[in-house]
Amino acid sequence: MSDHLEQQPHRATLGALRRLAPYVRPHRAALIGGGLAALASSLAGLAIPLVTRAIVDGPIARSELSVLPWLVLGVLAFGLLEAGLMFLRRRLVARPSTRIEATMREDLFAHLQRLPVAFHDRWPSGQLLSRATTDLNTIRWFVAFSGIFLVVNVLTMVAGVGVLLWLSPVLGLVIAVIAVPLIVLTLALERRFSVAARRSQDQAGDLATVVEESALGIRVLKSLGRGRRLTARFVADARGLRGTELLKIRLLAALWAVLVMLPESAIALILGLGAYGVATGTLTLGTLVGAVTVMTYLFWPIASIGWLLAEASNAAAATRRYWEVRDVVPAITDPATPVPAPDPVRGELVLHEVSFRYPGGTRDVLHGVDLALRPGETMALVGATGSGKTTLTALVGRLYDVTGGAVLIDGVDVRDLRLADLRTIVATAFEEPVLISASVRENVALGLPAASDEQVWEALRVASADGFVAALPWGLDTRIGEQGMSLSGGQRQRLALARAVIGRPPVLVLDDPLSALDVHTEAEVEAALRRVLGGVTALVVAHRPSTVQLADRVALLVDGRIAAVGTHSELLAADPEYRRLLSSPDEERADEREEVGA
Ligand code: ADP
Repeated sequence: MSDHLEQQPHRATLGALRRLAPYVRPHRAALIGGGLAALASSLAGLAIPLVTRAIVDGPIARSELSVLPWLVLGVLAFGLLEAGLMFLRRRLVARPSTRIEATMREDLFAHLQRLPVAFHDRWPSGQLLSRATTDLNTIRWFVAFSGIFLVVNVLTMVAGVGVLLWLSPVLGLVIAVIAVPLIVLTLALERRFSVAARRSQDQAGDLATVVEESALGIRVLKSLGRGRRLTARFVADARGLRGTELLKIRLLAALWAVLVMLPESAIALILGLGAYGVATGTLTLGTLVGAVTVMTYLFWPIASIGWLLAEASNAAAATRRYWEVRDVVPAITDPATPVPAPDPVRGELVLHEVSFRYPGGTRDVLHGVDLALRPGETMALVGATGSGKTTLTALVGRLYDVTGGAVLIDGVDVRDLRLADLRTIVATAFEEPVLISASVRENVALGLPAASDEQVWEALRVASADGFVAALPWGLDTRIGEQGMSLSGGQRQRLALARAVIGRPPVLVLDDPLSALDVHTEAEVEAALRRVLGGVTALVVAHRPSTVQLADRVALLVDGRIAAVGTHSELLAADPEYRRLLSSPDEERADEREEVGA
C-alpha cells in the first residue's frame, strides 16, 4: 500500500458523503421524489396495524360485522399502495443513480487524462481501476437504495414510535427508552466498520494492481519463472483482503444482533405490559394487537439500519477514495496568459540551462543542460543507460516540467504555450510503442484525430508501415492492441512513428525509434526517416551508429550533463567516451537481442 493513500485522516461518514452533492444536486427532484415514495410506502404499511386494531376492537370484540368488509378492503388498499409506491421509487431513482455513476466516472477519466505523467508514476494503476469501477458501483447503490432507505427507515421508526405513543403512551415510552442504548452501541460499531470498509477498498485496489501488472508483464514473468513468486504475493494480498472482509462481517453480525434485540425485546415488553393492561381494563385488546403489529412491522426498518449504516460507510469510503484522485491538481496545465504560438513555426529548439529532478527524487537527473537545435536540424542524443536521455526528451513536450532553466521553441518558453498548441508543434514517439485496443486507423490518428485516410496512409508510408498494414486482414480497420492482432516489436514501433509524424509537426522528439527494428526494416525506416527529418527539427535518442548517421550533429550526455556536441566523425575522432559508447559490446548485444525480437 502506497503511503500517501493511507495518510488520509478518518473523517466522519456524513462529511465524506457530502462531497457527492455536486453530482446528486442536478437529480435532487427525482431522488427526493423517490425518497418520498419510499416513505409514503412505509407509512401506508404502518397504517395497517391501525386498521387491525379497529378490526379487533370492532367486528371481533363487539361483533360489528357490517364494517368488516370495509376494514378488510382498507388493509388491502394500504397493502396495494405500499407495493405501488415501492415500484414508483425504483422507477424514479434508476435513471438518476446510473447517470450519477456514469458522470462521476467520465469526470474521473477526464481528470486522469489531465494529470501529468508524474501522477501516474506515483499511483498504482489498480488503485485507479478500482476507484473507477467498484467504488463508483458502491456509490450508485448508496444513492439509489441504501441512502434513501437509511433516511426512510429512520423516519419510519420515528413514525412507528409515534403510532405506539398514540396507541398507548406507556408502551410508546418504554420502547423509546430501550432504544437509546441500542442507538449508542450501533453508532460505535458503525465507526469501527467504516475504518474496515476503507481498508478493504484499499486492499481491493492493491489486488487489482497485482493482477494488472502480472497481465501486462505476463511474458516477462513467465520467461523468468516468476509466476510462483507473484502468485505468493497475490495470495498474501488476497488473504489480507479476506481478513478485512471477515472483520467487516463480524462487526456487521454484532450490529444485526444488537438491532434485532430491539424489536424482539420490545415485543416481549409490549406483550407483558399489554396483557397486564388488558387484564386490568386499562388497555383494549385491539390496542395490544395493534401495538404488536406495529412492532413486527418495524422489525425490518430497525434491523436493517445496521446494514444500511454499513453501506453508508462503504459509500463514504468510496467517495473519499474518489475525491482523493479528483483533488489532485494537475501540475502541468495551460498558462494563465498563454503566448500565441509562433506562426509559422521555424522550429528552433533551445534547452537553456535545463535541470530536472523527478518529483520526490533526491538528486537532479539533468544538470544545466544547454543545447540549441537550429530549425530543420536533426540532433542525435547519445549517452550511457541512465544518463538522462529519456528524461530529456520528456521535457520538450511537457510530459514533465523542467525544475530549472527553460525549454524554448522559437524563443518561446514551452510553459507559456497552450498545451494544445505545444502538442501540435511537438510530437514525441517513445521507445516503448504503446498501442491502444482499436483499429490501425485510430491508433495512427491519435496524433491527429481529424486525419483523413490519405493522411493516415501517408504517415504509414513515411514510417514504412504501409506494406504490412496493407497486408493485414482488414487493412486500416484491423483491430490491434491488447484486444486485437498481435504485432511484432518492429511493426509496433513503425506505427508509433506514423502516429508521431501524421500531424506534420515542426519538432519531432524520437526516443530511439529504431531500437526494435531488424536490419532490413531499419534500413527502410531510415530511408523514410531521412525524408521526414529533412523538413523538421528533430531530437533523436540514438544507440546505434546507423541512427546517429541520420543526424546533422550529435550531443553526448554523460550523467545528466552535455559533455560534447559535434558531428559524428568529430566526436568519434575526439571523444574516447563517445567511441566507447557507440562500439560497446553491451550495445551490440542489445542490438542482437532486438533483432531477434523484432
Ligand atoms: P536514459 O534514457 O539515458 O537511460 P533516463 O532518463 O531513463 O536515462 O533516466 C535517468 C535517471 O533518472 C536514472 O537514474 C533513472 O533511474 C531516473 N529516473 C527515470 N525515470 C524516473 C522516474 N519516473 N522517477 C524517478 N527517477 C527516474
